Amino acid sequence: MARPFTADDFAARMERAADSAQDAGLSGVLVTPGADLLYLTGYRPMAITERLTMLVLSADHEPSMIVPLLERPDADSAPGSSKLTLSDWSDGSDPYERAAAMLDPKGRYAISDAAWAMHVLGLQARLPDSGYVAMTEALPMLRAIKDADELERMTAAGEAADAAFYDILEVPFTGRKETEIGADLAAALEAHGHSEVEFTVVGSGPNGANPHHDLGKRVIEEGDMVVLDFGGLKDGYSSDTTRTVHVGEPTDEERNVHEIVREAQQAGYEAVRPGVACQEIDRAARQVIAGAGYGEQFIHRVGHGIGLTSHEPPYMVEGEELLLEPGMCFSIEPGIYLPDRFGVRIEDIVTVTENGARRFNHTPRELQIVT
Ligand code: ZN
Ligand code: ZN
Ligand code: ZN
Repeated sequence: MARPFTADDFAARMERAADSAQDAGLSGVLVTPGADLLYLTGYRPMAITERLTMLVLSADHEPSMIVPLLERPDADSAPGSSKLTLSDWSDGSDPYERAAAMLDPKGRYAISDAAWAMHVLGLQARLPDSGYVAMTEALPMLRAIKDADELERMTAAGEAADAAFYDILEVPFTGRKETEIGADLAAALEAHGHSEVEFTVVGSGPNGANPHHDLGKRVIEEGDMVVLDFGGLKDGYSSDTTRTVHVGEPTDEERNVHEIVREAQQAGYEAVRPGVACQEIDRAARQVIAGAGYGEQFIHRVGHGIGLTSHEPPYMVEGEELLLEPGMCFSIEPGIYLPDRFGVRIEDIVTVTENGARRFNHTPRELQIVT
């Protein structure tokens, strides 16, 4: 098990967030419950409710957090709470007035992407001259670079997902529903230490051609390609990997399409190094697929950042000019989708190192045959 994060870790993160907001010309950072709050304070309220909880960080004030009175004991016990001033509000009082008193009336703040509109509107009504910008837009780097302790957790999450894939290669596919394979995958992730299973995509035959297909009642048959995309949380950090397997002997076309995707994934991986723009990773993989004549069938970006959440900046997508830095973690997951026929996707999570990339997923990327 990795070393637990300490109050000093959270203090350092809060200071860095306040500094980067200042560098971005903002008055501060407003954080409501979710991954950013967890990252900055270690606090995860039991439930995300309509009652306002908000961390306020700015370069010229001590960190403070407003919490509902009844959640105060929980908030007090969060590991980062000793490094901030807690202020509680009780039902019947106006939390927005209280929060507004902590802000610059003409300030411009980065606020959590998933802050409830009700809260943003509540603040805006009390501070009509204030302004708000989405956190990932204002501070895309907030959680993007993982430190050694986070990388240790990401490594362990990847190993667990890999172990789940090896388990699934042993189960029978023919004659079973996608939902049954999904249940096997979920059980395997849990058996290998995941506390939460977030998704188990099982796209068999034509269902594999729909990248948003989750899983369904289709019975898997001999001859099917099956896209398996699964992940969840282990020790607070996310896994996410995809392998496409074939039930029985594949056709030449199936082998060929799979091989193109494998080469594209490899090209994306080989393009990773510090100082390269995110969009170059997408381009490197896409070039291989387009070169083989399947450009129109690769219908999504090649990757997304990952950490406390399964999708977060940086995004490996055309137009993203953010430069890669050591410690960033993201997926490389090209695919080819042939409507009504089959799909192939191969996904590894990688991290940027000083001179290239390191994968967190190591199961074979060559087409595996299942029964
Ligand atoms: Zn087939
Ligand atoms: Zn995935
Ligand atoms: Zn992914």
